[in-house]
Amino acid sequence: MEQIYLIITYTLAGILGLCFGSFLNVLVYRLPRGMSIVMPPSHCVSCGARVRWYDNVPVLSYLLLRGRCRDCGARISPRYPLVELANCLLWMGSVAWFFPRGVGMVAVACVACSALIVVFCTDLETMLIPDSMLVVLGLCGIAALLLDVFGLGVGIGWQARLIGMAAGFGFFLLLFLGCRLLKGEAGLGFGDVKLMTAAGLLVGWQGLLVAALFGSVAAAVTMAIRAALHRGARETAAGEPPREHAARDDISGAACGEGAEPASEPSGRGEGAAESVSEFSGCGGEERDGEVPSKAFPFAPFLAAATAVALFFGQNIVGWYLGLFF
Ligand SMILES: [Zn+2]
Repeated sequence: MEQIYLIITYTLAGILGLCFGSFLNVLVYRLPRGMSIVMPPSHCVSCGARVRWYDNVPVLSYLLLRGRCRDCGARISPRYPLVELANCLLWMGSVAWFFPRGVGMVAVACVACSALIVVFCTDLETMLIPDSMLVVLGLCGIAALLLDVFGLGVGIGWQARLIGMAAGFGFFLLLFLGCRLLKGEAGLGFGDVKLMTAAGLLVGWQGLLVAALFGSVAAAVTMAIRAALHRGARETAAGEPPREHAARDDISGAACGEGAEPASEPSGRGEGAAESVSEFSGCGGEERDGEVPSKAFPFAPFLAAATAVALFFGQNIVGWYLGLFF
């Protein structure tokens, strides 16, 4: 009997996760552009046709339509089904991992994971971290702290969370200022500082260590690979005219189901274009990810992913590591 309840719970979490993931795609496209998240209804960015309800089924519609708009055949970004799937898995994971420790923490983890997915995607696509998502993460941190205070949380403790918040702010502020001074290849924006301040509150100082370490290592490895690929590409394609703009429009612009203008980039990036948007992360240069010289490097996707890892396994990883010595 208990098995049946478990199956129902997981299925429900998965289905709700998929549907909410669909909404996250709306946030990913609209928040950095300062658009309303309710109006207008979802439509194709290429032909403007409204997305029919039966073409709006998470993941399934993308597969049935083979990643193309039903009306004009424009390519739909694979980001749509991937975000839905990621949210589904993280919500099921939140139920599996946190349910034995209290229902409150399940809700906090689900909301936090969804906000981290949005941060991951917006920073990757536009180099912007929406302030609203940082507020959501901060509120998740406060909720987790209150759960701890009342003995309903995961037992990180309010002290460890406040230390984590202060450490996240202090450490990443220093990195940010250092990066500003050096104007190095790897940039860190103030959005990243705010992200890690909220993350510190959410996962405590132990989790923050895990998030900072994993995020930095993953970013460094990716940067090294990208630099190597870049060198190779430049050697082979020397003399050829750059074609990145066409390629990029195809990827981010022809995403069906969202927005009115194709591939409209947020204007005045980094100068407070939209109020709801924090400074773009990456102080290196003007180039966007995917374009040739690629000086600016989006850091927040790595930090967001590592924060999700820390949310689930931070305490276990630090506990295991300390166990090697004590
Ligand atoms: Zn279309």
